[in-house]
Amino acid sequence: MELTLTDFVLLTMLGSMGMVLFFTMVSRTLHVRAEKRSLANRVICRLCLHAFEETSHVSTVKCPVCGAENEKGRSRRFG
Ligand SMILES: [Zn+2]
Repeated sequence: MELTLTDFVLLTMLGSMGMVLFFTMVSRTLHVRAEKRSLANRVICRLCLHAFEETSHVSTVKCPVCGAENEKGRSRRFG
């Protein structure tokens, strides 16, 4: 099989399009995963409704804005 310049250009274009599609899917998957992870650690303050992330394994966390104690995981029921 002889590869002409047209074939080569076509293959390169198809290849780059496939690469773009692949990377778009990968980045989207990673983004969704990161979002799910941050949602699991999200705490919404019961006083000022400030949403922040808490990754430590304690049951109560202090709001960085107003300093109120918040029970972790309770906000998940609402959101
Ligand atoms: Zn607060």
